[in-house]
Amino acid sequence: MAERERYDAVVVGAGPNGLAAAITMAQAGKSVALFEANGCAGGGVCSAEVTLPGFVHDLCSSVYPLAIGSPFFRSLPLAQHGLEWIHPPAALAHPFDDGTALLVERSVEETASRLGDDEGAYRKLMAPLAAEWESLTIDILAPPRWPRRPLQLARFGWSAIQPARRFAEKTFSGGRTQALFAGLAAHSMLPLEYWGSAAFGLVLGVTAHAVGWPIVRGGAQKLADALTAYLRSLGGEIFLHHPVESLAELPSSRVVLCDLTPRQLIQIARHRLSRNYREKLQKFRYGMGAFKIDWALSAAVPWRAAECRQAATVHLSASLAEIALSERMAWAGFQTNRPFVLLAQPSLFDESRAPAGKHTLWAYCHVPNGSVFDMTDKIETQIERFAPGFRDTILARCVSSPVELERRNANLVGGDINGGAPILSQLFLRPTRRLYATSSPGLYLCSSSTPPGGGVHGMCGYFAARKALRDRF
Ligand SMILES: Cc1cc2nc3c(=O)[nH]c(=O)nc-3n(C[C@H](O)[C@H](O)[C@H](O)COP(=O)(O)OP(=O)(O)OC[C@H]3O[C@@H](n4cnc5c(N)ncnc54)[C@H](O)[C@@H]3O)c2cc1C
Repeated sequence: MAERERYDAVVVGAGPNGLAAAITMAQAGKSVALFEANGCAGGGVCSAEVTLPGFVHDLCSSVYPLAIGSPFFRSLPLAQHGLEWIHPPAALAHPFDDGTALLVERSVEETASRLGDDEGAYRKLMAPLAAEWESLTIDILAPPRWPRRPLQLARFGWSAIQPARRFAEKTFSGGRTQALFAGLAAHSMLPLEYWGSAAFGLVLGVTAHAVGWPIVRGGAQKLADALTAYLRSLGGEIFLHHPVESLAELPSSRVVLCDLTPRQLIQIARHRLSRNYREKLQKFRYGMGAFKIDWALSAAVPWRAAECRQAATVHLSASLAEIALSERMAWAGFQTNRPFVLLAQPSLFDESRAPAGKHTLWAYCHVPNGSVFDMTDKIETQIERFAPGFRDTILARCVSSPVELERRNANLVGGDINGGAPILSQLFLRPTRRLYATSSPGLYLCSSSTPPGGGVHGMCGYFAARKALRDRF
């Protein structure tokens, strides 16, 4: 039995970062046991039939520019363990009220050519970043450290640090291009007037050109399954249905890596943490929540703009001002009438997700942390605005409020999907200046509450495990 054995490393939580930490340990020849509260590994990378039989829904993440671009995941033989990426023709569609849409395609040129007066500005911004992305990513998807490419990073950082709204208004003259950039930047889950919010727009924009925004054939769970299978092939052990309530219940090990946010770390490790460190963790700020809906549909979404059928991801909001208002309201604790909706339609490109001729649909909007507002009608009205007749295609829906998201995964505190708000003070130094280390020797954090933050890339887990290996072995 695991309880009597001693491991080199124990990992708590099997999200992509917990799995990455466990794999890094196992690759270094260390014995690893991973304990997960849920009945399957994956955390924010999971799928299930939650509406009708035969409809496979991604319950959390669905689109993976950061996973396919992750230096760590790319180094793993995940295809041998069943992972297959699907690249839709375009990364992103952004429709407007006049029935037209902008597309972000793999080619910077093609994308820029549809932007009218902003063609040159878009090309000038994105072309060099896309060309340098592979080397830039080594510094961007990493903890704060002396950069490998200081000049490139400084150029990127100068734009990235700016408030997204100001950056979009300064860089682009057309309202449509400004709205496109605002939609990308709103993934930050920050008001677009906040410093650092442009970084998210730039990173997501450039990944569309450099690596694409793929989905996983068969559903997100297949990515988690591939990581799990690879970990097991290295000798790692995984214990499911095992919510850890206290570190005392874990088998003895040289290091413990927690794929948890600060709040849960305090709960399970209270007595091992110094008072000073605990107080710092208590000050960590969580961000907006998500309100998510999965639908089973009788037909594809009847978009007014045909271009929307070329991308798995569609952003719904007509202007920069509308997106900025939606994000500002949610941040300030208010319900918004026209939420910025982030939508994915994977079954258009992966027939295994739904019965023949039928479709799945995934969408969420940002709401105040822990909000109990029901956004179902507002989200569906926003889709109907760009796709009249959408409501007639709905066969069933599964609604996940922030409370429900947190019930399924304790890391989604108040529905915050990024493991903590990426405000400037928490963008690089998260959750404290110690980053992965805690006040307790041998105890580490490895979740998206550590650098480089939210998204499915596994880099938090990888860097936490490297630090533990350096410190303790
Ligand atoms: C609705 C939604 C949509 C998203 N869309 C995208 C997207 O399209 N692309 C993208 O890149 N990212 C997306 N994300 C974000 C992404 O899922 C997260 O950033 C990522 O999963 C964080 O990984 P993690 O390993 O740090 O934590 P998680 O994936 O949250 O994993 C934490 C794990 O720890 C387990 N756990 C918690 N407490 C305990 C305990 N006490 N004992 C044992 N186990 C415990 C949980 O059950 C969970 O399995 C989305 C998230 C959500 C919720």
